[in-house]
Amino acid sequence: MNDPARDRAALVDRLRSRERLDDERVLDALETVPRHEFVPEERRDRAYVDSPLPIGEEQTISAPHMVAIMATLLELQPGDRVLEIGTGCGYHAAVTAELVGAENVYSVEYHDSLAQAARERLAATGYGDVSVRPGDGKQGWADHAPYDRAYLTCAAPEFPRAVVEQTRPGGLVLAPIGNGRQRLVRARRRADGSLERETHGAVRFVPLQ
Ligand code: SAH
Repeated sequence: MNDPARDRAALVDRLRSRERLDDERVLDALETVPRHEFVPEERRDRAYVDSPLPIGEEQTISAPHMVAIMATLLELQPGDRVLEIGTGCGYHAAVTAELVGAENVYSVEYHDSLAQAARERLAATGYGDVSVRPGDGKQGWADHAPYDRAYLTCAAPEFPRAVVEQTRPGGLVLAPIGNGRQRLVRARRRADGSLERETHGAVRFVPLQ
């Protein structure tokens, strides 16, 4: 790869022509975050192809269009406090950080090794203020609740109860929901804790552990 910034801009141009990918703030964030720094060295030549890639521990970094769709659906604004379940390599967290500010992003990763590597990579790429904790995301991260937004980057049978409870009334939660076949579901948390759901497209994510 000779010029990562040029390859990245070309990728973003391709994404812009896709349906729903018209949020310029989100596209700017994708154009800013150096995805090639987050993928394993031997996969770098594919960093700006719009596809998922293996990142170790049988996990994958999501395709750029999926990160863009999720960021758009979450309607992220500067200053929003965001909970991410499934840090993986940290790329999606970095995109979220571009939109809300790194200090407002809290991410939980099941695998210690991935959490540690993501923390180091985020620091090396200028997103060191993103907080990463190894642990089970089904418990959310109560210490920093309430969140304005929460999302899962792994598929769950249902929104984890703790994650919903840690989202403020009026806040949004987003996740791939389903066993095997999954749909991207966005829900607004009502004051009584119930969810106003909206189902989006069919997706394929690794399962929540
Ligand atoms: N957002 C990531 C995508 C990672 S794939 C990126 O940009 O790279 C989904 C991640 O969810 C994997 O890293 C997996 O280890 C993690 N995961 C699975 N179950 C989890 C759980 N119960 N709690 C926290 N993380 C979990």
